[in-house]
Amino acid sequence: MKKIGVLALQGDFSKHMKTLTAAGACGVEVRESSDIEKIDGLILPGGESTTIGKLLERYRMIEPLKQFAAAGKPIYGTCAGGILLAKNIEKYNQVKLDLLDITIARNAYGRQIESFEADIPAPSLGELPLRGVFIRAPVITRMGKGVELIAQFGGSPVFIRQGNIIVTTFHPELTDDLRVHRFFLSLAQDGP
Ligand code: GLN
Repeated sequence: MKKIGVLALQGDFSKHMKTLTAAGACGVEVRESSDIEKIDGLILPGGESTTIGKLLERYRMIEPLKQFAAAGKPIYGTCAGGILLAKNIEKYNQVKLDLLDITIARNAYGRQIESFEADIPAPSLGELPLRGVFIRAPVITRMGKGVELIAQFGGSPVFIRQGNIIVTTFHPELTDDLRVHRFFLSLAQDGP
């Protein structure tokens, strides 16, 4: 069985671990760079992207993660995880992995609806919409040419793919719906 790492430095990694188990996968907590050698795919969870970025730097995990992606291994970023993957982050100068050709604006849904839920149609994952749980979510404001739209909400992309990297700006690990994680697992299954 393929091993799927969940970066466990900060944020809601334990929910992803539970979702992976529910989806029949083997989840492994990733806490240091040597853990990256043991996994076939990686989830970067939601949390606080500045904090996670600082910890990635402190534990010298930036380069190993770039190599992991360059080897074609799949990475799934949820919310803050997506911010860390982006090439451009509006207004913030923070540590990032620079792997995904998008521009992203942090905390961009405004005060009143900083956190909200909405149905998100994602036809490629089935007829039923996904339940999008958005928690101080970012907005993807630019997608590069190689980036594919899987789902959008309110005119902005909320679920995208660039090769073996996927990002949702919402949190499927906080629902019982396993489709996003299963989709990610299929990338790890097909992968190198
Ligand atoms: N607001 C957080 C950030 O900008 C992301 C929130 C989340 O991951 N749910 O890093």
